[in-house]
Amino acid sequence: MLGRNRVPYQLVAVVALLIIPIGIFGRFFVQQSNKDIAFAQKEIAGVEYLEALMPILADLADNRTPEKSLVDEFKEAAQRHDSAMLSQDESARLLDLLVKPQTGSGIEKARRLITRIGDQSNLILDPDLDSYYLMDAVLLRLPEIVEMSGQLAESERPGFDLQSLARFEIARMGLVHSFAAAYEANVDGSLKTRLGAAGHHFDQHLIAAAGEWRSRPAKASSTTQTVNMAALQFWNNAATELKRLLRTRIDGFSKRLFTALAIGIGVATAALLLAISILKHVLSRLDDRIVYLAHRDLLTGLFNRSSISEEIQKAIALAGKSGGQVAIHLIDLDRFKWINDAFGHHAGDEVIKEMGTRLQSLAANNCAVGRLGGDEFIVVQTGIRDVQDALTLGESICAVMRQPFEIDDQPIRTSSSIGIALWPRHADNEASLMKCADIALYKAKGAGKNRPLAFTSMFADELHAKNVIESAVRDAVDEDAFSLAFQPLFDVTGQQLKGFEALLRLDGYDGKPISPAVFVPIAEQLNLISKIGAWVIGRACGVAALWPQPLNVSVNLSPEQFRCPGISQVIAAALDASGLEPHRLEVEITEGMLLDNSEAVMAELRAIKALGVSIAMDDFGTGYSSLSYLLRFPFNKLKIDRSLLKDAADDNAEVRNVLETIVTLGHKLHMLVVAEGVETQLQAKLLNDLACDEIQGFLFGRPMPETDVAALILNTFQRQIFAAPATDSTSAYRHVQAG
Ligand code: C2E
Ligand code: CA
Ligand code: CA
Repeated sequence: MLGRNRVPYQLVAVVALLIIPIGIFGRFFVQQSNKDIAFAQKEIAGVEYLEALMPILADLADNRTPEKSLVDEFKEAAQRHDSAMLSQDESARLLDLLVKPQTGSGIEKARRLITRIGDQSNLILDPDLDSYYLMDAVLLRLPEIVEMSGQLAESERPGFDLQSLARFEIARMGLVHSFAAAYEANVDGSLKTRLGAAGHHFDQHLIAAAGEWRSRPAKASSTTQTVNMAALQFWNNAATELKRLLRTRIDGFSKRLFTALAIGIGVATAALLLAISILKHVLSRLDDRIVYLAHRDLLTGLFNRSSISEEIQKAIALAGKSGGQVAIHLIDLDRFKWINDAFGHHAGDEVIKEMGTRLQSLAANNCAVGRLGGDEFIVVQTGIRDVQDALTLGESICAVMRQPFEIDDQPIRTSSSIGIALWPRHADNEASLMKCADIALYKAKGAGKNRPLAFTSMFADELHAKNVIESAVRDAVDEDAFSLAFQPLFDVTGQQLKGFEALLRLDGYDGKPISPAVFVPIAEQLNLISKIGAWVIGRACGVAALWPQPLNVSVNLSPEQFRCPGISQVIAAALDASGLEPHRLEVEITEGMLLDNSEAVMAELRAIKALGVSIAMDDFGTGYSSLSYLLRFPFNKLKIDRSLLKDAADDNAEVRNVLETIVTLGHKLHMLVVAEGVETQLQAKLLNDLACDEIQGFLFGRPMPETDVAALILNTFQRQIFAAPATDSTSAYRHVQAG
């Protein structure tokens, strides 16, 4: 995968590496080439200047006045040449000297000037080039030869002017040497082919002239003229060659410049193209990555919420065309919170990743797998015929999720619950489909987790009903709309009223009562039970405080009320506020509260007991009914669940034995034993026979509104006072029935 920030730097580096040196080199190269071309052009101008000068010199040598056109030509050449080597002044002076009637010193000055021109030409030449040597030959040596031959002609005794003759020879040797050097430096050998013969011929001419000077001094002047003419002729040849060489050089420079420019442009273009292609590549990968990130869950690499939604819509559209069905599986890990709490979030992440991998490897190509967040996954399954196909995949998912895995070398097991919903069977759009799957998931969890469950419309009704109850509970908390019913408890003969159990009441929106067996668990889920429970305790104490002694009140406590500390303080505060003696209050707890075996719960129970409040174990005979719970805490009372009583109705001997055992057990553990749900006289008689201590049930009194309690108390007390002492324990029941 591509580094996020490195890319632009790479690009900049590549471009810099390619373009910057090319730019620097190119600039230098172009500058150099332009300079070279300018020099060569100046040299050509110099040669042309001399070319124009030479015929004038020839005329002068012939003692003729230079032609007018030649003089003009020279002026033009001087102008062209001026910027290169010679100032206008010098040029004008030279011309002046040349066209005026000549004296010996005038000619001498002109020659010196011409020599200077040669010198200056050399200054700007590259000494490695053929043109340099050729310039040297024609601009220095040739004028030297002409000068020497002139001196020899003017000499009074030319034949004996050995010094001039020697200098002539040296000049000739210099010329030969320069030519040799020029030929050698000329790479393609063209110079020697084109000028070699003329040079040789000229040299032969000079050798002959030198011989003549030496042997026939009288004719020295005509020899000089011949030398000058030959020099002029050779000069023409050499100047042509020199110009050709210089032009070739300019061509070379131009070609070099062109090639450099072409290479520079080529490389720059290549660099640019490369940069563009890198940029494109980078952008496209960046684009891919952005698209990937936008569609994927970072932890698992599965589809994320938004993209799985697209997958569902695609699947629905496709199935719509082909007449198929789509199933979505909402998967929730069971016990994930526990893993997170016990092993930390890092381990939690590992579990999520592992589960994601498992789902992905299980999913066939007709499935899309996504993570909705937290420990919730989703599989979209297409190409199915019926619910059974979806359930089969659901079972496989459950099986693979159940496989143990390791955290910190510890084998850990988790499982998953799955809610399944089908399009178009359960819903006709994505949103409703998700809702249905969510309801099915909720039911799967409620049904014991670790299973797939397909949606049915019944679930939706239940969920709706549950939602209604939830709002009723919330509203009742806000509006203080709960009430209490009180159900009487009697001694086992049914004659003596012992007290009442406070039972919470809530009316639904339709005015009909909602069973606490329904709304209490919902209040627990909503975390409202502690608040409601505190109200119950306060209210029950307040009401009971008005009852005559020794009537008691019992209050049911939910396990949730023990989750956070402080229930004992709530009770103490209620006792305080109501003035109820603590021994007249009893709290009923179920063994569910002791499942956690937590020291905090035990501490609360001890604190409650320390207040003087008595504690009853409720619903005994359901659930685990573990004896260990009874041993763990010294309860004051054992309440036998009404479901046991129901079975006792048809005089079942075994149930009777169980009941007897429970009563005996309670007594052995120094607890009072109460039976609830007593509906028949038969049950009452049985409990009396078994020496149960107290009884509670519809036979003796239904839960009644607070306002009816006083009448019952009065009634019962009257009956106790006026009734003859019962000889038969059943008489009381008859009385109650009659009432
Ligand atoms: P529970 O603690 O077992 O309460 C006794 C239940 O048995 C009451 O149901 C009562 O009406 C019912 N009952 C009493 N005698 C008979 C009988 O002869 N036959 C039959 N069939 N039923 C009888 P209720 O009032 O519907 O309460 C249901 C459960 O709701 C209670 O069971 C208790 O667990 C819970 N509950 C009620 N009030 C509260 C409360 O204030 N706080 C908490 N945490 N739970 C409460
Ligand atoms: Ca109870
Ligand atoms: Ca009970």
